Amino acid sequence: MYLETTDPQIRKEWSGVRVKKNVLCGVCPGGCAIEAEVEEGKLAAVHPGKNVPFGNLCVRGKAAPEIVYSPDRLHKPLLRTGERGEGKFRQASWDEALDVVVSKMEELKNCYGPQSMASHSGRGAFEQSLGDFCNGADLVALKLLWPFGSPNTASDGSLCYVSYGMLAPITTFGIPATSLLPDFENSNLIVVWGANPITDSPPFLFKRIVEAQKQGKKVIAIDHMKSDIAQRADQWIAVRSGTDGALALGLIHIIIEEGLYDREFVHHWTVGFEELKDYVKKFTPEEVERITWVPQEQVISLAREIAQVRPATLRTYTGLEYSNSGVQNIRAAFILWAITGNLDVPGGLTIGLPPRLPMEGADIPLPSGPLPFGGEKYPLFYALTGSAHFMEFPRAVLEGKPYPVKGLLINGASTLTSYPQPGIFEEAYRNLELLVVIDRFFTRDALFADVVLPATTYFEINSYQRYPGGYVRLRRKVVEPVGEAKNDLLIIAELAKRLGFGECFPQSEEELLEKAFAKDPNLLQQLRESKDGVQTPKQPPKFRKYEAGLLRKDGLPGFPTPSGKVELVSALLTKHGYDGLPVYVDPVEGPQGAADTYGKYPLILNTGARIPSTFRSQHLNIPSLVKLQNKPQVLIHPKDAAVRGIHDGDKVVIKTIRGEVLFWAQVTEKVLPGAVEVNQGGGSPVQVKEWREGNVNFLTDFDNRDPISGFPIFKALLCEVEKAKENGAFRE
Ligand code: SF4
Repeated sequence: MYLETTDPQIRKEWSGVRVKKNVLCGVCPGGCAIEAEVEEGKLAAVHPGKNVPFGNLCVRGKAAPEIVYSPDRLHKPLLRTGERGEGKFRQASWDEALDVVVSKMEELKNCYGPQSMASHSGRGAFEQSLGDFCNGADLVALKLLWPFGSPNTASDGSLCYVSYGMLAPITTFGIPATSLLPDFENSNLIVVWGANPITDSPPFLFKRIVEAQKQGKKVIAIDHMKSDIAQRADQWIAVRSGTDGALALGLIHIIIEEGLYDREFVHHWTVGFEELKDYVKKFTPEEVERITWVPQEQVISLAREIAQVRPATLRTYTGLEYSNSGVQNIRAAFILWAITGNLDVPGGLTIGLPPRLPMEGADIPLPSGPLPFGGEKYPLFYALTGSAHFMEFPRAVLEGKPYPVKGLLINGASTLTSYPQPGIFEEAYRNLELLVVIDRFFTRDALFADVVLPATTYFEINSYQRYPGGYVRLRRKVVEPVGEAKNDLLIIAELAKRLGFGECFPQSEEELLEKAFAKDPNLLQQLRESKDGVQTPKQPPKFRKYEAGLLRKDGLPGFPTPSGKVELVSALLTKHGYDGLPVYVDPVEGPQGAADTYGKYPLILNTGARIPSTFRSQHLNIPSLVKLQNKPQVLIHPKDAAVRGIHDGDKVVIKTIRGEVLFWAQVTEKVLPGAVEVNQGGGSPVQVKEWREGNVNFLTDFDNRDPISGFPIFKALLCEVEKAKENGAFRE
């Protein structure tokens, strides 16, 4: 190739010599520091960053060259030529494709009102600048539609994280989970509850837990399966999935009964203790064993350990969200930490103050007018996120409730592999007048789209990355975009410009850097000059911040809740019509809640655990990653496998009252007898055949939800597993 540039660095990169660059990994938004090798302008190899903060490389990062140059990458905008779902498209120029999008959006606005247009963004749209400039309070929902006049911005927050990250902690402490930081290093006991930090992207918390364990800290994992962390933990508490709330309430009961709670903290800083004390009386150790399958001796000793081996810290995450009382279960765990005196103390669950960001974002107000779909049904969700609830999207399209929705823009999400009963969502997509998909790869959603727009990986963009602890560095473009792919943020900005409100979004990567550091241009200068990044000044840690008035905007002592205290009975929940206490509800489709169904489907179905080779539904088309696990699996206990004549590696059919899917058995003691764990992520057209046909969500339930969060019950359903007949029919 002939090179016009005289830049010596670029000439060297194109000269056949491999150039090493210290950069950030661009596969997921984790921002791990890596060393990239570039040859002839192409990413050739990657290695973990050495002697640099946040150096890391996971298996997906290692596959970066394969991912960036995968033949499945979208190179050009596409316009649909066949029926929705048929997969027939033609290539188009950016101008033509954007014109189609903008003119159709304006037509919908004129015909049906701006609220007829909705958006859904997902985990593929988490790059930090996109989050800072485009997303709403739940950090994900795309704000592009607000200046357009529609409140219908939704995101994967309709089924992930918001329950744990916002609804539970804000109703309890007035603080989001991003500010609840486990202090592993100074703890005497680390409890990991419903989380498997090795599959975090990046797994920095996992590394800290392992290091703390080496220093002699005890680790207890509470989980329905023997996850990676449960295998490494000093103790695994095996709990029936969906019943964690009963376990937490049982622990609270013992702690109150035995007088092991922190009386002073409870007296000064909580409300609702007497009501809680009354409510938990029924959660005796015997009852907790009956509900949760955790032996009562274990329940008693765990309660004493959490209360007495102080300080104890807690790492919990989204594992507790997917049951019929998901928000309340998480609240119960947080309350347990508060009343045992383990909140915001060294070695406990500490509260971090929100970072002061140097950015100057556009102040885009929520449009006045009708509530978004889901706003009335899930009022607390709406009050805290300002977002539409995507579980209600099909009703809006198919039934016109609360009003007709006709258009949808999906950015970095794969809704048809992640939402329950995808057939319902497909039906909605068939009835749209406009569906736009922005992605790097062709998803199942894209099959139904009118317009598909190709996005870059983060190796192909300039941006920035903030890390916990105040470390910042620039994300420097490693290679040029593949084909005509563009930075997602600039696609959104261009759409905004054509719709008449381009000033709300940075229109170039240079402008995005200037706006991101507008309040601290010196920092930007330092970052430009630095190779690896800059550590901003650190404040010495402060604890018991509620005593010093550091948590409330008015500077008064206490917590930023309506009462100013930790709310064991939540005023916010009560205000929105829910029970204020952390009330437990047994799984509605469970052995005790649905006896008839249990007779026919006698195994508890869990889904949602991550496998290391995928990023949600991504990468099941990348050869080296597929090699790590080439088929979707159901983990089944040897006893359950034996009575069904199932052997390790057998093809099996998993059945629920909603559908059947073909998987492969992994016979293992990692799951409890009577329960199975089924891999998620399958169902996208670019995936290898076995994964493409293995969409677990044909088994899950659209209507069975946590009434507070609206989240589907992914971890407490019922199924049966049978050995597949050689030509056994199954649902694709
Ligand atoms: S966690 Fe994400 S950013 Fe880090 S190495 Fe893996 S893919 Fe790359």
